[in-house]
Amino acid sequence: MYLVSNREMLNKAQREGYAVPAFNVHNLETVQVVAETAAEMGSPVIMAGTPGTFSYAGTDYLVEICQAAARRYNLPLALHLDHHEEMGDIEDKVRQGIRSVMIDGSHLPFRQNIELVMQAVKLCHRYGASVEAELGRLGGQEDDLVVDSADSFFTDPLAAKEFVEVTGIDSLAVAIGSAHGLYQGEPRLDFDRLEKIRQQVEIPLVLHGASGIPEAMIARAIALGVCKVNVATELKIAFADAVKGYFSENPDANDPRKYITPGKQAMKEVVAEKIRICGSAGRL
Ligand SMILES: [Zn+2]
Repeated sequence: MYLVSNREMLNKAQREGYAVPAFNVHNLETVQVVAETAAEMGSPVIMAGTPGTFSYAGTDYLVEICQAAARRYNLPLALHLDHHEEMGDIEDKVRQGIRSVMIDGSHLPFRQNIELVMQAVKLCHRYGASVEAELGRLGGQEDDLVVDSADSFFTDPLAAKEFVEVTGIDSLAVAIGSAHGLYQGEPRLDFDRLEKIRQQVEIPLVLHGASGIPEAMIARAIALGVCKVNVATELKIAFADAVKGYFSENPDANDPRKYITPGKQAMKEVVAEKIRICGSAGRL
């Protein structure tokens, strides 16, 4: 088994004051880019997939591809279930070898969120899998998950304390103003709130929706206790723009090995930049 939980990597990040980047992958090529870049920079890494990604690529394929990447580079690599909501689905994927889980009950009332997360913790810890849960709700869109900004709300620090203590989760995703997808205008993060959450909660904190957040704000979030930074949209845009550029210059192209390669190169630059911003290079 070459896929690990993210517990040790996040705890080390917390002790040493950096963050582990979590990159959303979709297929062989995106896994290759993330693994190769992380290995070159000596960075621990998390590869994340939404339920939509796992049904697109096939859990069996993704598990095997990520294990091959981990073996090839001797790289501790967590394949992570991003925004999963169904217990049966999580159980199936954990049995297939995944050891890093997010159970997202953030759409539920507080008590129901706690109950769902407790079930996930009971199941996942039996397998040695780590569990991340979210309190508060991010706005924006990630795959099939669409949250209107009117339905989004920030994490309450005292509720977070109770949530973490009762559920026994390994990491907590906080809602402090970041959003999934692209930002309209300058993103604003509530650092006072993050500081208050950190005072109440000892486990690693997770920042979702980091695409488009300026470097200085990410650095401040990490200094205030964020240990995992999720990036999806910026990778997709870089990849797609480069492939589009290739086709506009080579309209008759039809060889995937040729038109996908510029996409991989463009994505690689973003991955390297995020690893640098997270401070995770050389932390293996
Ligand atoms: Zn997210």
